[in-house]
Amino acid sequence: MTDVFSRALDPFKHARDGICLEGTIPLAKLPRVAAELLEPMGDAFAKLQFAVDQDGKAYIEGRVKASLALTCQRCLQPFDWSVDSVFKVSPVKNTEEAEKLPAPYEPVMLQEGYVDLRRLIEDEIVLNLPMVAHHEPEECAVQMGDYEERKPKPFAALASLKKKITD
Ligand SMILES: [Zn+2]
Repeated sequence: MTDVFSRALDPFKHARDGICLEGTIPLAKLPRVAAELLEPMGDAFAKLQFAVDQDGKAYIEGRVKASLALTCQRCLQPFDWSVDSVFKVSPVKNTEEAEKLPAPYEPVMLQEGYVDLRRLIEDEIVLNLPMVAHHEPEECAVQMGDYEERKPKPFAALASLKKKITD
């Protein structure tokens, strides 16, 4: 399948024409996502429907799906993470327009009248990454107990801090 998201396009024209774009993008081409992967493999799937609402506002209704092999921060083994996100964005020229944008739209910044679709998809995946990637305790090669022991004990740290203050 060809990468239909590789070019920037005029969202207003696409909205008027009611265009729908659907396709896959190699994750390796999304640098901020690829940086989080154990190996830069696999694809993201995206579907973007361009439309105009009853107030004449152009918007893009999208869905992005990806299966990511992240690195577990405890055991450093692969950690599978699925992204399946739906969103509604409307193109804006500046932050002023972004602030005025009514719900349920999220702003997507225009660059010289164009929207960078690949960037839009990349942003959506990055927003849906876990804060800290790690397995559920029972699935992780490093057991929670081992992990806790290696960390400084918070109460011990607090006690020494208290001691410093009172000394
Ligand atoms: Zn793990």
